[in-house]
Amino acid sequence: MNKFIPKIYKKSIFDIDYKQLKKKNIKCLMFDLDNTLLEIDEIIPKKEICNLISKIKKDFKVVIISNNTSNKRLTNAANELGVDFIKFALKPSGKAFRIVQKKYNFEKDEMCIIGDQLMTDIKGGNKYNVLTILVDPLSEKELKVTGINRFFEGRIIKKLAKKKILKRGEYYE
Ligand SMILES: [Mg+2]
Repeated sequence: MNKFIPKIYKKSIFDIDYKQLKKKNIKCLMFDLDNTLLEIDEIIPKKEICNLISKIKKDFKVVIISNNTSNKRLTNAANELGVDFIKFALKPSGKAFRIVQKKYNFEKDEMCIIGDQLMTDIKGGNKYNVLTILVDPLSEKELKVTGINRFFEGRIIKKLAKKKILKRGEYYE
């Protein structure tokens, strides 16, 4: 169960204390794309998201790691945000984390994953031993494959809520 527990839980990427992350010597922020930066039916991220990313890019290496296989969708979003991306990341496997770590030469304790799914982003990040931040999904709309993950996620959250570890809407850091 522990691998599903995020270190930090916030409502959205706007609520994360980036100054605090910098103080903790985090240097690389890996963002999930779908429902973290971009809604399922959007093609490019909203202006306020672009503004936020452009601001935090001054302090962190920002990379999108997405399980999405659509090159066009990822390229469009990453170009708009001016960041690198890794597609077909196969989270929760360590593949994308390993690629990012090797490519940019970071230590694990300098890296952080931010995403909306326990089964992929958080489990993957915890397994790889980087800082994990869960955010609520941008929208209720989901990809089909995510629907399956959400079913299992719902059961995990139920168990974690019972133990008073993680409850939807009760944010912590
Ligand atoms: Mg997502």
